[in-house]
Amino acid sequence: MFYFRTVSVTPPLPERIKRLRELSRNLWFSWHKPAREIFRDINPELWERVGHNPVKLLLQVRQDDLARLAADAEYLRKYDAVMNEFDRYMNGEKWFHRLHYRYNNRVIAYFSAEFGLHESCPIYSGGLGVLAGDHAKSASDLGLPLVGVGLMYRHGYFNQRINRDGWQEALYPDLNFNEMPVSPVVGESGLETTVAVEYPGRTVFARVWEVKVGLTRIFLLDADLPLNLEEDRKITDQLYGGGRENRIAQEILLGVGGVRALNALGIVPSVWHINEGHAAFLTLERFREMVSAGIPASTAREAIRSNTVFTTHTPVPAGHDVFDRHTAEKYLRELCRDTGMNCEAFIKPGWDAQRNEFNMTLLAMRMSGYCNGVSKLHGEVSRHMFHRFYPGVPVEEVPITSVTNGVHAGSWIAEAWKKVLDRHLGPGWNEPAGAAQALSRLEGVPDREIWITHNRLKQNMVLFVREKLQEQMRRHREAPEALGEASNALLPDALTIGFCRRFATYKRATLIFRDPERLASILNDPDRPVQIIFAGKAHPADRAGMELIREILDYSRQEPFRGKVVFLEDYDINVARHLVHGVDLWLNTPIWPMEASGTSGMKAAMNGVLHCSVLDGWWPEAYNGRNGFSIGGPGDMQFKRPEQDREDTRNLYRVLEEQVVPLFYERGDDMPTRWVAMMRESILTAIAHFSTARMVSEYTEQLYIPAIDRGIAFTESGYEAAEQVGRFKQFMQENWHHVRVDRVATNGRWNMEVGDELAVESVVRLGPIAPDKVTVEIAFGSDRGGYLDRLATRPMDLLEPVGEGIYRFAGRLPLDQGTYGYTVRVRPNLKAVDAVFETPLVRWADSF
Ligand SMILES: *Cc1c(COP(=O)(O)O)cnc(C)c1O
Repeated sequence: MFYFRTVSVTPPLPERIKRLRELSRNLWFSWHKPAREIFRDINPELWERVGHNPVKLLLQVRQDDLARLAADAEYLRKYDAVMNEFDRYMNGEKWFHRLHYRYNNRVIAYFSAEFGLHESCPIYSGGLGVLAGDHAKSASDLGLPLVGVGLMYRHGYFNQRINRDGWQEALYPDLNFNEMPVSPVVGESGLETTVAVEYPGRTVFARVWEVKVGLTRIFLLDADLPLNLEEDRKITDQLYGGGRENRIAQEILLGVGGVRALNALGIVPSVWHINEGHAAFLTLERFREMVSAGIPASTAREAIRSNTVFTTHTPVPAGHDVFDRHTAEKYLRELCRDTGMNCEAFIKPGWDAQRNEFNMTLLAMRMSGYCNGVSKLHGEVSRHMFHRFYPGVPVEEVPITSVTNGVHAGSWIAEAWKKVLDRHLGPGWNEPAGAAQALSRLEGVPDREIWITHNRLKQNMVLFVREKLQEQMRRHREAPEALGEASNALLPDALTIGFCRRFATYKRATLIFRDPERLASILNDPDRPVQIIFAGKAHPADRAGMELIREILDYSRQEPFRGKVVFLEDYDINVARHLVHGVDLWLNTPIWPMEASGTSGMKAAMNGVLHCSVLDGWWPEAYNGRNGFSIGGPGDMQFKRPEQDREDTRNLYRVLEEQVVPLFYERGDDMPTRWVAMMRESILTAIAHFSTARMVSEYTEQLYIPAIDRGIAFTESGYEAAEQVGRFKQFMQENWHHVRVDRVATNGRWNMEVGDELAVESVVRLGPIAPDKVTVEIAFGSDRGGYLDRLATRPMDLLEPVGEGIYRFAGRLPLDQGTYGYTVRVRPNLKAVDAVFETPLVRWADSF
């Protein structure tokens, strides 16, 4: 092999339409149909062949086609309209500019191992990536000054092929970055921007690419440079590919290289958002920078915590990266060298002493002042998961909040629906402000229009599926009869269920086959036929996930499921888009409570595709009995496998047989009016509450802005506040063993009346800790036999010292009807931080 560089040469664009190039390199086109149309119109057949990738299209288009269009009045009218809209979008005043203009010049850096933006940029594997992509798009829509940081994978994530035996095969596309909507970042010198990161015994260099997503810029690091050792060029080979060492090597490039790339670009973030633990090394790089500049370690740690946000995305253990001590030290020793610290101390924030391993989630949590899960339920599940790091703290007070995920409405709502909504609701239905009012006008959309719109999309989807199936069969050299069968697969009017997502085992793709006979009788009712479309990739190392695919393939080829159960290859954003637009019902059967959020159901729901799900992830927040279906109720959730499988299957069949099928086939006035009413309610719920417009506005107001403010407060005047907080915490850690609640006295009788007040007095020993450095409070809640539910607190006041380091406190608790439990507790009072348990220190009264 010899080295060569590539250069792409495109036909010159005629002057009149020369901005097509700029447009092709801004993914704004991906959620603006007219923008896609001016590319498609250049050569519709080529547009399909290049997979809707305008950059590739412009590379291959014939000069004649361009010349012809540059003189075509109709085309030019469209072109001008698109460019006008693009300019208006890029320059217009947006939500953030209006409401939060004080922060206009601040930057939020959003680090993620994957970004799912468009099928032309396959650097995502599933929900996490698509969420990051949707976050970036909504940040742009809202005018939020956010930049993304990620990795550019030479072979992306794999393309899925199913072989004749039903096994998944992984094909790694050889991505040609010159043909993708990305550009190398070029510095003032005209040279490409590169960063250098120390690895064991060598330095790795990475080039920086930029993807434009409306106003949002995403920077992607790529280690495939001739400057690097052959093995290092493979660091960014595949998303989630390779072994443990490659994983840590990637994560170092993302975290450490990412911080350095922003430095090189002159971008100084005010907030750092770690989107899932993969990116947590950014905290150690910032730590290294500060400590090697002479800032004390504890000050640096507080400064970093003050403006770092961490979002955890899954309760599934495999989703949390851990490394053994040897691997962690081997790679992080390089980073810690500049700090003069010993390596053990340097890696300590990520060290899980109970399990003897280095944990990326733990690192992220300990270095972030703001942690959140991705649905209310997942917030709760995460507080339980990480409770072990907060001994003595009630589980509901573990400092992990939640911001429920959403999806980018502009990208996921079908054009046909956008037209309906624009027509009946007017503008504003897709904005954080004013959406509620606009959406109330959904009531006025006639049933028939809803039903017809959906059925057009459904016909489209059926054609798309048939096409894909035929392609699969041609490749397998199936007999012509089979091909014929594929061209007629699926009944265009039958109730169609979609089950499409990654084939992780906890998602239980085959749950619906647990009783094949019962399923067969549901699908094969001649008057009320039902069919199911499956799609999804299993991680290539996940044998069990691939087994599930094979099992479904097996069923799909046999009677009585043949033609009624189909599996579509290569689930990606394009396939997802067709299916969430066109099926009738979206099925979701995870093992409760493993689905942290689940976002495909939101995409479906926005298009009037009714969600039918276990009450997991986002669904308990959304389900109201009128906007979709619940598999089992919340009360059914105490089961553990295998009981849970059996219970959920029974409930699944029941909901299909008793609710879904009868409702769908109940035809009054030629259409299922009650079903259509549910569609309307589904669209309303999803757009109002599960869009990334809502999500990003919540991140902004609940996390980013407080983090900007705290970051400023902690670092101004030479890091004074950070230093004080660091000292405070250390002092508390060292002296907390002195703290005791010695005595609790009350005026309490066992029965009191509404309106009475309970007076509580307590003697507290603090040793060398000053009484104003702690909060002493009455903690109370409903007595649920052994623990206090809905715990709340009332502060107590210092009355007087009663000895050396001993103080008397008093407080009052007004009483409402009910049975209460109450006690007294002491915790550090850190005024600079709102979180109650910024440090996991607390002392409760012993029995009194
Ligand atoms: C939305 C989406 C997902 C996430 O689906 P879940 O319901 O969260 O499992 C995965 N892959 C693709 C291609 C998507 O568009």
